[in-house]
Amino acid sequence: MPSIPEQLAELEKLKLKRQLIELNSPQSTTIDCAAGPLINFASNDYLGLSQEPELIAAHQAATRQWGVGSGSSRLITGSLRPHHQLEEQLASIKQTQAALTFTSGFATAIGTLPALVGPRDLILVDKLAHASLIDGIKLSRAKFRSFRHNDLDHLSSLLQNAQAKRQPNQRLLIVTESVFSMDGDHAPLREIVALKAAYDAWLLLDEAHGFGCFGNNGAGLAHQLGVHQQIDIHLGTLSKAVGLAGGFIAADRQVIDLLINRARSFIYSTAPPPAIAHTAQRALDLITGPLGTKRRHQLDQLRQLAAQLLNCPAASAIIPILLGSSETAIAASQSLRNQGLLIPAIRYPTVPQNSARLRLTLNANHTLPQVKNAAQAINQFLSTT
Ligand SMILES: *Cc1c(COP(=O)(O)O)cnc(C)c1O
Repeated sequence: MPSIPEQLAELEKLKLKRQLIELNSPQSTTIDCAAGPLINFASNDYLGLSQEPELIAAHQAATRQWGVGSGSSRLITGSLRPHHQLEEQLASIKQTQAALTFTSGFATAIGTLPALVGPRDLILVDKLAHASLIDGIKLSRAKFRSFRHNDLDHLSSLLQNAQAKRQPNQRLLIVTESVFSMDGDHAPLREIVALKAAYDAWLLLDEAHGFGCFGNNGAGLAHQLGVHQQIDIHLGTLSKAVGLAGGFIAADRQVIDLLINRARSFIYSTAPPPAIAHTAQRALDLITGPLGTKRRHQLDQLRQLAAQLLNCPAASAIIPILLGSSETAIAASQSLRNQGLLIPAIRYPTVPQNSARLRLTLNANHTLPQVKNAAQAINQFLSTT
């Protein structure tokens, strides 16, 4: 392994070295940092709930009632009433028998996969699946193959192959996302669900970017498409549209009972602060109520405007503007930043080599003029390269 200075120099040379941006303000649609005030097109707080006054008040009240920390892991004395209530509410929204929360979506993925599959099993995973899913898969020590992104022919040929060699009791698990984090496009869930039924496979669906944003009450894309009953394991996060922090699985009671006993990131980690679990319930009330409907509608309008001005498909709040090289993506992002717009460059290894891009993320609280300005500035940059 090269030395640390060598590794850093290499990253620098490849234009892959990343840096933290310190904010001097709360994160919102406008932020303040060393570069000055910026319009923020980089957060996953799709519905703007992280700064919602009603939730701040709920969090303050819950902190007074429950304190700031949970004191231990869930299996010791860290399983407080707000955790249980939140899990019941999540199960009810997801229409599953049960749900279980974790400290983050990442912890959810790396705890759940090894608890459900092992070395004798086979996982088929979309090529663009999130790092947390990949790490969970690796930790499970199951065999795995990736299928080309959203490619049903490839998936079905891998399934066929697996079927031919399937051992008794071997589990076959398909892992994909509903809304992809770096491309913003949707998985063909109806077709995937049909395939998984045909091959007697399980399906784990990561709705990190779908939960809160799709479906009548924000339950997710699977609900919007009416295929939610066919998803065996729903994975979600409380850190994106819900505006807080944490992750969850919604599934059958027995799956949840097994996770309580086997998911190491659940068992060996301190429970999330109870005030977070309480506030998440109020956030879910908002998401499933009129405010959620209104914010999803606003997001839709902004998305349509961006799609029209940028002349690109915009299936979600995540809009990728593909540029290819890391240099171009960084130059684009820098030029936009000079115009007061924070639109990050996404590079390898977050996305495949030579598919560096700008990633414009919309928030229901952006204004139409803010989105219009951003799209015009992006078009301006594109026309000069
Ligand atoms: C962000 C993300 C996660 C992790 O969720 P956190 O709560 O941020 O840890 C998992 N899967 C996908 C697809 C994500 O985009």
